[in-house]
Amino acid sequence: MTTTEAGSEARVPSTDGPGGGAVPVLGSLSPSRAGDFMTCPLLYRFRVIDKLPERPSAAAARGTLVHAVLERLYDLPTAGRTVAAALDLLDPQWERLLAAEPELAELFAGEGGETERAEWLAQARLMVERYFTLEDPRRLEPAERELFVETVLESGLKLRGFIDRVDVAPSGDVRIVDYKTGTAPRADFEARALFQMKFYALVLWRLQGRVPRLLQLMYLGNGEVLRYEPDEADLRATQRKVEALWAAIRRAMESGEWRPRASRLCDWCDHKARCPQFGGTPPPLPSAPVERPSPADLESAARERDDL
Ligand code: SF4
Repeated sequence: MTTTEAGSEARVPSTDGPGGGAVPVLGSLSPSRAGDFMTCPLLYRFRVIDKLPERPSAAAARGTLVHAVLERLYDLPTAGRTVAAALDLLDPQWERLLAAEPELAELFAGEGGETERAEWLAQARLMVERYFTLEDPRRLEPAERELFVETVLESGLKLRGFIDRVDVAPSGDVRIVDYKTGTAPRADFEARALFQMKFYALVLWRLQGRVPRLLQLMYLGNGEVLRYEPDEADLRATQRKVEALWAAIRRAMESGEWRPRASRLCDWCDHKARCPQFGGTPPPLPSAPVERPSPADLESAARERDDL
C-alpha cells in the first residue's frame, strides 16, 4: 500500500509517531510538491492529481547530470577527487541517465541539436568546475549522499525527500548540503530557497533528535553559497507551515477548486495551453487516481538519483 501526494486515504503504519506508536498516514508531501502548491495550486493539481506529462527540460536534465557527477565524485578515493576526474564523469553519467530515461534524447534531436548539446554540456562542465571553487572534495567525507528521508507527523502527514549530502563533524554537528544548478536568489526570495532546507532539517531533527547545525545551499550557476543556522523555533515554524499547506491542499481536493496563480514562472509552465489564466480549459478532474507516474513521481525515481 502506498500513499500519494494527493493524499489518498491510504493507511500505512508509521513507527515515528508520538511515543513511537503507529500513526495512520493520510498523505505525503515533498519540498518540491509543496513548492508547486505555493507557486500555483493549479500547477500542483496538473502534476499531482492529473499526473499530466511534461516535456523534458534541458535545464532539468543538466541539473540531474551535475548532481550525478557530484554524487559519484565521492565514490573516488580522496586524493582522486580532482576537477579532471569530475569532468571525466560527465559522459558516462549522461549515458547512464539516457539509458534510464531514453526520452532525454529528444532534447537534442532537432536541427542544430548537436550544437545545442555541445553548449549544454559546456555549461555542465562549467558548473562542475565552479563546484571546486567553493570547496575541496579531497578534504571532505560526506556521511550520506542522496539520502532519502521521511517522517510522519502526528497529524498523519508524511514528509519525504532526498537530501543531496549530509556531513557530520566529529562533534556530531550535522550539515545539510544542497547543490543548485541555478543562480543564488535575490534576498527577497531567500526564504523560499531555505524552505526546502528547513523541511529537510525538520525531518532529520525528528529522525535523529538533533537539530542540524547548518543548512548550506551551493549555487553552481554563479558560485555563491547560502548558509543558515536553524534552531528549534525555525523547525517548529516550518512544521506549522507544512501543516497549513497540507490543510490548503486538502481543502482544494475536497472543493475541486485549484486556483491558477500567474507569475513569471508561467513562461516555463508546460500547462499554459490548458490554464484558464491564458484562455485554456483544464481537463475534467480524474474520478479515480491516475495510475501513470506523474512528473513528480518521475522526479523521485530520477533521484535514485535527482534534483535541481
Ligand atoms: S500557466 Fe501559470 S497559472 Fe497556469 S498552471 Fe501554469 S504556473 Fe499556474
